[in-house]
Amino acid sequence: MTVKALKGFKDIIPGEVETWQFIEATARDILHRFGCSEIKVPILEKTKLFQRSIGETTDIVEKEMYTFPDRNGSSLTMRPEGTASVLRAYIENGLHAAKPIQKLYTIGPMFRHERPQMGRLRQFHQISVEVVGTDLPKVDAELMAMAALILEELGLSASLEINSLGCPKCRPAFNKALLDFIGGVDDLCEDCLRRRDTNPLRVLDCKSANCQAHYKDAPSILDHLCTDCADHFSAVKKGLDLLKVAYTVNSFMVRGLDYYTRTTFELLTNDLGAQSAVGAGGRYDGLVEQLGGPAVPGIGFAVGMERLALLLNQQDNTLPEPEIDLFIAALGPLGQDEGFKMCHALRALGLSVAMDYQDRSLKNQMKQAGKAGARFVLILGDEELKNKQAVLRNMENHEQQEVALGGDIKHWSLELADNLFD
Ligand code: ATP
Ligand code: MG
Repeated sequence: MTVKALKGFKDIIPGEVETWQFIEATARDILHRFGCSEIKVPILEKTKLFQRSIGETTDIVEKEMYTFPDRNGSSLTMRPEGTASVLRAYIENGLHAAKPIQKLYTIGPMFRHERPQMGRLRQFHQISVEVVGTDLPKVDAELMAMAALILEELGLSASLEINSLGCPKCRPAFNKALLDFIGGVDDLCEDCLRRRDTNPLRVLDCKSANCQAHYKDAPSILDHLCTDCADHFSAVKKGLDLLKVAYTVNSFMVRGLDYYTRTTFELLTNDLGAQSAVGAGGRYDGLVEQLGGPAVPGIGFAVGMERLALLLNQQDNTLPEPEIDLFIAALGPLGQDEGFKMCHALRALGLSVAMDYQDRSLKNQMKQAGKAGARFVLILGDEELKNKQAVLRNMENHEQQEVALGGDIKHWSLELADNLFD
């Protein structure tokens, strides 16, 4: 019996991986323009890192984490998101001392035990960004503008929804108002009844249509913000206006993680069925301190790469075909050996080169060259080697030229490379 991959875990095979490379290269380029540095963090962490940051009564921690004891019996978790790990690394490596404002990004797999469906996997990938050390509203606006720019440069469109979740000063009053409201509703789903007692804010995130119908009349957090939070939110909106980034305010967006304070946002699309969020984030001003670090504010977001790839594929954006510089059509035993050496020498010089080691007919090899997208073909047979002349064929305009093969291999490889770059 063949062993298959786990449910919700997917291979990204050639033909698909080009889209992923395009996404990653585009995002990296933009992130660097905004002054972000890459940080690579482990996939496995102590479970308590996520319990403490994401929150014990969130969906992720309650039912989605891959948690298991290791051989020593300590509880480990495969990271379900990037922020907690990056902040742990920020604290552990003293990055706050190195630079007062750190802009960090990481790209990699995340793990959540969810029901797999289109755009929802158990191993999925995120590009996630954290800006730690400032709570200036312009930074929030800049980060959202950057997220929007990533989508724009990928050729995708999404709408931006924003909200403010207030701070520990003003949230308790809102929680109380929300609890009073929920107290007056009696046919909530089981999850919401539980959330009512553990984490009332979470109810607003409920997917049940019945619950959502009730919550239409729920109090708005925006009516409960303290002056500082209200001013901050106004300034964030002004920042978005200055950058001409379109947004709508959605006072019911609460996000699924407990650490958020003030600004939260989501980038939404209509093109992925139930999986409408392509990216999301928010401010987490108390989190670094809560994890044992300095009292510095921060904000971050993550975009889901599977969802970006699905959107790109739907758009049928044809990516450039893979291309190689040269195919060596090597004929006969001597041609095969010389071609073999030349192939390596040219690759070492920086060219992408392919050849066929099976000495098939010229016709067959020309076909292979075409399939590989070769810009040039070098025809190298016993005859050519004897005369120290080979034919270089430009596959685009079909022009042919003779190239001299005199001297040592390094010499004619170089000459050939010059010809190819002309
Ligand atoms: P959703 O509401 O779709 O479950 P989420 O709020 O749980 O999303 P976040 O934790 O904010 O998602 O993660 C940010 C982004 O990561 C999402 O907008 C989405 O694009 C992507 N993402 C989250 N979970 C998955 C998953 N299981 N499979 C694929 N992508 C995911
Ligand atoms: Mg989720």
